[in-house]
Amino acid sequence: MKRFDYLIVGSGLFGATFAYLARKKGKRCLVIDKRSHIGGNLYCENIKGINVHKYGAHIFHTSNKEVWNFVNSIVEFNRYTNSPVANYKGKVYNLPFNMNTFYQMWGVTTPAEAEIKLEEQRAEAKVTLNGREPQNLEEQAQLLIGKDIYTILIKGYTEKQWGRSCKELPAFIIRRLPIRMTFDNNYFNDKYQGIPIGGYNKLIKGLLENTEIRLNCDFFKERETLTALADKIVYTGAIDEFYDYKFGRLQYRTVSFDTQIKDIPNYQGNAVVNYTEREVPYTRIIEHKHFEMFGTTINECPQTVVSYEYSTEWELGMEPYYPVNDAHNNILAEKYRELAAQETNVIFGGRLAEYKYYDMAPVIEKVFFTIRALEL
Ligand code: UDP
Repeated sequence: MKRFDYLIVGSGLFGATFAYLARKKGKRCLVIDKRSHIGGNLYCENIKGINVHKYGAHIFHTSNKEVWNFVNSIVEFNRYTNSPVANYKGKVYNLPFNMNTFYQMWGVTTPAEAEIKLEEQRAEAKVTLNGREPQNLEEQAQLLIGKDIYTILIKGYTEKQWGRSCKELPAFIIRRLPIRMTFDNNYFNDKYQGIPIGGYNKLIKGLLENTEIRLNCDFFKERETLTALADKIVYTGAIDEFYDYKFGRLQYRTVSFDTQIKDIPNYQGNAVVNYTEREVPYTRIIEHKHFEMFGTTINECPQTVVSYEYSTEWELGMEPYYPVNDAHNNILAEKYRELAAQETNVIFGGRLAEYKYYDMAPVIEKVFFTIRALEL
């Protein structure tokens, strides 16, 4: 009999949730991570009393009550509501695209006026498309929201984030963003959202409590020995690396952060400010304290921590963040997925192993689904 039922490669949200649920079913799990800490990209570093989202901002949102109750059973979540603003050439616009944005953009004050303006804005795209489905992000954006908003709030930001022309990017990326005919700056349509009180490390620690963890442990350096320890593997790393890149490398976008401490309590007045013009080199500035401190409590902490976010193409040795779901990469990913589907003792899950642009809640849903299918 092997020492463990599951070797879980990666202690991010998929791995940690799987470990928690499998342990509850009496399974013996070993979680390994090549980093020196648990939590994957959810990991926060405490700087000057502020939880800094070291690998990029994470905001939990879901309409799934089961998922919401689950995460809150591990740690209570606060009432943070994401309402990013966009800065274009010094002018500030509300996001997602809503009546506030339309007022700032065109001076319209009622939904009826805004509808007329939007119809005018979409007209060109409708003529160009002539009834066919949008083939790329540019066509999709112009059809959804028209040319002004596309030019001012979408084009530059998207091309910086993805390093590709909007004409080469898939339409689905922009369909993530809601369009609202109300004065509502809540970025998400979901019923529930928030940040764990005390930070994401509490969530991950809670999920991995009583599970054996090995840090600084690289699966690929000790593949045979580690594999021999458990009956099955839950693999959450990059799928192409698992197969030694045999069909070629998948592409990712990586993000680098210039994190600075500012000697003022409030730098930008919001957690997220997007810089949508192409000429500003960073995509957004995150001011971390606003995720967990609200109203006048922000002044209790005299300093603030901000991260300037730069998006670049991934190269070997960098952290892979976003899968690039363009046609070339999708075909390649599918070839790897076909291999993965033949594995009987390996479960692939999460953003890197599924090569999927995933939010957190769907990752948890996927773990629920996986655990149910295993009938542990
Ligand atoms: N986007 C944009 N302008 C913005 C914010 C987002 O054009 O100010 C587009 C961009 O293409 C981006 C996509 O919407 O890739 C999804 O943005 P989201 O904020 O959901 O991405 P994430 O937070 O996952 O990076």
